[in-house]
Formats: sequence, C-alpha cells, structure tokens
Amino acid sequence: MIVIKSAQEIAFMRQAGKIVAITLQELGGKVRPGVTTGELNEFAEDIIRKAGGIPAFLNYQGFPASICASVNNEVVHGIPGLRRLENGDIISIDVGAFSHGYCGDAARTFPVGEISEDAKRLLAVTEESLVRGIEKAVSGNRLGDIGAAIQTFVEDNGYNVVRAFVGHGIGQKMHEDPQVPNFGKPGHGPRLEPGMTLAIEPMVNAGTDNVAILPNNWTVVTDDGKLSAHFENTILVTGGQPEILTRLS
Ligand code: MG
Repeated sequence: MIVIKSAQEIAFMRQAGKIVAITLQELGGKVRPGVTTGELNEFAEDIIRKAGGIPAFLNYQGFPASICASVNNEVVHGIPGLRRLENGDIISIDVGAFSHGYCGDAARTFPVGEISEDAKRLLAVTEESLVRGIEKAVSGNRLGDIGAAIQTFVEDNGYNVVRAFVGHGIGQKMHEDPQVPNFGKPGHGPRLEPGMTLAIEPMVNAGTDNVAILPNNWTVVTDDGKLSAHFENTILVTGGQPEILTRLS
C-alpha cells in the first residue's frame, strides 16, 4: 500500500530531508585524498545528531554505520572503515536520517581530487538521469514513467542501470511501497498521486549491470570491476512539479 502523507507528515519529511541535505553538503567539503571513509562516517553522524536527527542506517538490519560509503567499483552499501581515499577515486555516499519519526534519504557520488574524464562523464550522466526521473514524478503519471526516463537516458549514454537494487517509497519507514526501479515501461505501474513520497536513486554502472555482494554481506560491487555511481533524492509528488525534500533552499 502506498501511503499518502498528510500536511503534517510532509512537514516532518521536509525537516528530515533538510538534515540529509545539510549532511551531504558538509560531507562534500570533507571528501579529499587521505581521508578515511570511517572519518567521513563519524563526521556525518555528528552533523545528523547536532541537527536533531537520528541516523537511519545505523543498526538498520545490522548495518554498522550512519552512512554508506561506496568507492569506485562499489555500487551501494559500502561499509565505512579504514579505507583511505586516493586521488582519482570516486565515492558514493548515501545518507539517511529520521526527524520526528519521518525519514529522508539521499546520495551523491563525489570526485576525490582529480578524476578521469570517463569518471566525470559517469557522474554527470548519473546525476542527470536522476533529474530526468524526478521530472516524471508528476501526479497522473505512472511509476514506470520514472524508471523508463532514467533507463533511457542512461542507456543512450552507453551505461547500464543496476536492476538488483531499486528506489522506494519512504516515510515513517525508510523502505515503504512502492519499489521504484530505475528501469521500466512508460505508462505502466501505479498512478502517482499528490502526497506520495519516493526515494528515487539511479545506480549506474559504466559496464555490465550485473553486481555481486562481498563476503561482509553488505557491499555491492560491479561484476566486471568497472566504476559505478549513485545519486538519490527523496521527493514529494504534488499537484504540480515534484518537490525535492533532500535539497537545500
Ligand atoms: Mg534509498
């Protein structure tokens, strides 16, 4: 069942989204060669708590940290730790926070120092695919319109969307109905209505869309070892243009 949020619930989700957006913005200033993913995690948890939020990922199904930090060929669910970032890496950071019992969830892939032209293009295409998907999150459209827009843009640029992991409804729980795939058919799936809140999150692989899970049972990596990028926002379907809840301003 897809929950339609009340005005009060939406107000709480705006607060949660703002905490996530601030955290990602601050993290962007910390990403540089030499920093460890564990240090980024501590920094993020501190920001979330000082802003009055509760980290959504910490202890979620046993996940041991407040952010997911996925480097290079890691797609999502990387566990922060002792890994030290190097010039030329890319790092996908996923942040979730609760405020007043409601959740915000967003991700960005950041360049570490100077990255290759290929990596820059992957980041740009993935970020733009999220924009294309969000544009379709309009009342009266179908869920499949979102996935189709993302998939088409990504594939037209020579990359592949991950199929094994998808976006999701979000609210009092981090993962609610519906699933929001990054692929699909226009005109298919549930009809979008004002008050629906969705986490749209294209995961884009430079090579094959096939993925594997490392022995830590969390970290998802590309099968072929090529780069992967991840951009995510939590959005609200309105009567007009979608509202991005995990964006500042
Ligand atoms: Mg998510």
